[in-house]
Amino acid sequence: MAYDLIVIGAGPGGYVCAIRAAQLGMKVVVVEKSKTLGGTCLNIGCIPSKALLHASEAFEEAGHAMAPLGVVVGPPELDLAAMMKHKDDTVAANVNGVAFLFKKNKIESVTGEGRIAAPGKVVVKAEDGGERTLEAKAIVIATGSDVARLPGVEIDETTVVSSTGALSLARVPKKLIVVGAGVIGLELGSVWRRLGAEVTVVEFLDRILPGMDSEVGKQVQRLLEKQGFDFRLAHKVSKVEKTGSAVKATIEPAAGGEEKALEADVILVAIGRRPYIERLGLEALGVATERGIVMVDDHFATNVPGVYAIGDVIRGPMLAHKAQEEGVAVAEILAGQAGHVNYAAVPSVVYTSPEIASVGKSEDDLKAAGVAYKVGKFPFTANGRARAMRHTDGFVKILADAATDRVLGAHIVGFGAGELIAEATVLMEFGGSAEDLGRTCHAHPTMSEAVKEAALGVDKRAIHI
Ligand SMILES: Cc1cc2nc3c(=O)[nH]c(=O)nc-3n(C[C@H](O)[C@H](O)[C@H](O)COP(=O)(O)OP(=O)(O)OC[C@H]3O[C@@H](n4cnc5c(N)ncnc54)[C@H](O)[C@@H]3O)c2cc1C
Repeated sequence: MAYDLIVIGAGPGGYVCAIRAAQLGMKVVVVEKSKTLGGTCLNIGCIPSKALLHASEAFEEAGHAMAPLGVVVGPPELDLAAMMKHKDDTVAANVNGVAFLFKKNKIESVTGEGRIAAPGKVVVKAEDGGERTLEAKAIVIATGSDVARLPGVEIDETTVVSSTGALSLARVPKKLIVVGAGVIGLELGSVWRRLGAEVTVVEFLDRILPGMDSEVGKQVQRLLEKQGFDFRLAHKVSKVEKTGSAVKATIEPAAGGEEKALEADVILVAIGRRPYIERLGLEALGVATERGIVMVDDHFATNVPGVYAIGDVIRGPMLAHKAQEEGVAVAEILAGQAGHVNYAAVPSVVYTSPEIASVGKSEDDLKAAGVAYKVGKFPFTANGRARAMRHTDGFVKILADAATDRVLGAHIVGFGAGELIAEATVLMEFGGSAEDLGRTCHAHPTMSEAVKEAALGVDKRAIHI
């Protein structure tokens, strides 16, 4: 065999798997159909969206938030081309970083579309149609996901856009309709609202951020409404028509009722993502899938010996860090080690302003499962550092098992929540209790003191409230 491992797809799942496997002494080749490495996350997902979220937040702060701090600047001017360049430069630096890591770890990369012709055999089709066959002991499918489409709605990436088009609009739309109040819709809606668009979000369910703790959802909805978001919850988009350079969406109540028309310059379809397994040859090979999801066991093995799968293409949340953990785990399993992912401690972050972060169970989950739990909550209005920075929106909520005090979930709405959630995640990884967290000394003044106070609140002994 020429290789120990062929990885198909160079997203966060695939490239991390390749690096870990190379560290463990395997000879690895990665097949990627795009010209750049890094997958959805680095090219058209996490990284460009965070570059635009940061830049648009700076634009908004310059306009509204600095004067009360005594920093008086003139009305900010938007240079959208420069903002897009910042995004593109950020993407390029990250993508080139993966290429550097491949070189450093002696990982070969082949550009082209991979198809599994047989166990241990991948045929790579290059752009010019040329084919090359690679052989290895094991194959890891890490082909990720693609945008889920609205039936009957054609995405042209200029007026009717997916997240990809919404990351590269040539001008700020006067009006933007976002279909779907999930993470991607709220993040990209936030970017364009901060830059001046009127944003209407249409969501089929009667709440935003489905799947997250419902108290968090309610509070975030209020905060986003204060920022100018117009939510049409429990509504569905039944038709989208292009009208010259604009677009008209027909919406109706999810339960049926009177139709209404919404007009906009751009409509963003952000109803979710689906696993991407096109032309991989899985059906011919007999790899079991369900609703497009590649079925794997606890060791990421499919039903076909020697074929494994990780990341967005398998069950679980579609998150880059979840894919990365699975990449490490499967590489270690292939090397005869005990690779493992603890799905109970996979954090999730929404990079709106303020940020929203969670790990573990929500109150809704615990109620549904009939688990007896205690809640500790602490608002940022009572945190000194938050006041000093005028970032008092939001709260920390810690959920602990009523009998054992073990922390089962943590939910944070607030400035820097995406960073703060790491301490609850580490605690949960070690099976820690609310008492452990509450007795840990936290630097003062920091936002993280709110996490400690929420943990103390589980036993009703928070100090500063
Ligand atoms: C706008 C947006 C923002 C996001 N923000 C975040 C965030 O902030 N945090 C977060 O955790 N997640 C975020 N995500 C989700 C994240 O991008 C995905 O969960 C992650 O990229 C999944 O990694 P993966 O390795 O499974 O697949 P992908 O990153 O999708 O990579 C799969 C790769 O496989 C390649 N490929 C597919 N088929 C073949 C084939 N047959 N042959 C060769 N190559 C193939 C593709 O070209 C692609 O490069 C975001 C997604 C989007 C769209």
